[in-house]
Amino acid sequence: MSHRILFIASEVQPWIKTGGLADVAGALPKALAALGHDVRVLLPAYGDILAGEQSLRPVHRFRAPAGFEDWQLLTPRRRTDGIRLWLASGPGFSDRRGSPYLDEHGQDWPDNAVRFNAFCRIATALASGRAGTVWRPHVVHCNDWQTGLVPVWMQQRRVPAASIFTVHNLNYHGRFEPQTLHRLGLPSYLWHADALEFYGDLSFIKGGLVFADMLTTVSPTYAEEICTPARGEGLDGLLRHRREDLVGILNGIDPDEWDPRSDPHLPANFSVQDLAGKRQTKQHLQQALGLEVAADMPLLVMISRLVPQKGVDLVLQALPDLLNRGAVQLAVLGSGESALEQRLRDLASAYPGRVAVQIGFDEALAHRLEAAADLFLMPSRFEPCGLNQLYSLRYGTPPVVHRCGGLADSVVDVTAAPAAGTGFVFDQQTPEALGAAIEHALALFRQPQAWRQLQARGMNADFGWKRSARAYVEVYEAAMTRLART
Ligand code: ADP
Repeated sequence: MSHRILFIASEVQPWIKTGGLADVAGALPKALAALGHDVRVLLPAYGDILAGEQSLRPVHRFRAPAGFEDWQLLTPRRRTDGIRLWLASGPGFSDRRGSPYLDEHGQDWPDNAVRFNAFCRIATALASGRAGTVWRPHVVHCNDWQTGLVPVWMQQRRVPAASIFTVHNLNYHGRFEPQTLHRLGLPSYLWHADALEFYGDLSFIKGGLVFADMLTTVSPTYAEEICTPARGEGLDGLLRHRREDLVGILNGIDPDEWDPRSDPHLPANFSVQDLAGKRQTKQHLQQALGLEVAADMPLLVMISRLVPQKGVDLVLQALPDLLNRGAVQLAVLGSGESALEQRLRDLASAYPGRVAVQIGFDEALAHRLEAAADLFLMPSRFEPCGLNQLYSLRYGTPPVVHRCGGLADSVVDVTAAPAAGTGFVFDQQTPEALGAAIEHALALFRQPQAWRQLQARGMNADFGWKRSARAYVEVYEAAMTRLART
């Protein structure tokens, strides 16, 4: 049976991206459409999108709900892959450039509660057919805290659609001072630990976790982890209470965006049968980044938001020993906390020709680094799913990962399973354990035949979206059943 699905996210590839949510919001709707479902995507019309896209046409100008006179729904004239994209244009989004969440000083926009609440209300209007559209969804799929109030407003407005809330990262709550509840027009009875209150503050993510009909997160292991006090971010009690409604579904990757055989960002393409293009890409990148050009020198790569979650500190501690011995090169692409950025710059200055650090967000360079690298480093403290390890597997770059979340679910440790392994998995999140895993990797790197087999297993692994999209459809159907019962 075909379902009508409204997919709501604060970032969607290729329109706007700060992390993995955008990749998922770009790819999952396409995969659902390919299964025959009618999927529409709603995204805020950020200033950067409006500046770069000429062909938007207005669909609807809002009159109700009150106070939304300045809001419009826009849509691109061209449709991609059978998906209708709606852009919600309004104050706080369309009149602003830069990051969706942070101002030019890296601080949260001070009106984040107001602007994302407005986005949630526009989404609710759309879901209830009050946005100039006849189309109404069976299922509304919300993602992360920015959309957490959608299930709340859906309940307030009695919207007859099932709701799903997906946790892409439980670390981000959308937490605001208590007065926000009334400022957003929410009723007082929602000020309760069983509703939107979180330790004296208002929590957007609780809106999703308490009020959505079904919950998902982006890997089976992370679904287990967030139900424990260690990883539950203060929400584990609530999540344990809803354990039966919580499903972990591993993200896929967009096979069109990430394919070494056709990737337009690479100086040379390659495949599992012929890796010559990978070697050329490595040489090209060593030159471009000012690294010594040496085909046999293992090139380690990290691409990441530079935040404590990602374990950059472990890399900073484990690498000098290897670099001093001339055993590896390191290239890092990332941006985030300025202290981590500085420590990485210092490492690059200390090891000219051996360490290259690019601070910034650069999609094309990310593709080239995935392709050029011999090993990909992902020593995350926690990782809901992680996409870079999946890209690196596809690009013949075995990942070195800490055993947690989606990393545990997607990388098979070759040290423990020599015939089935796809990468290197370490258990303790320490510099020593990371260093030891890299040493194992370097030992295998010196055995060309075994290395080729390791690469081939990763490149042939199936991380397409089809299987995951089917799992989401099952969750949608479970949510519709729950809704019908209430
Ligand atoms: P997270 O969502 O926690 O940032 P993921 O691994 O799930 O981590 O997804 C990160 C996505 O963002 C990947 O597609 C990765 O390639 C991309 N990315 C992260 N930092 C950068 C950067 N500095 N430049 C380009 N792409 C980046």
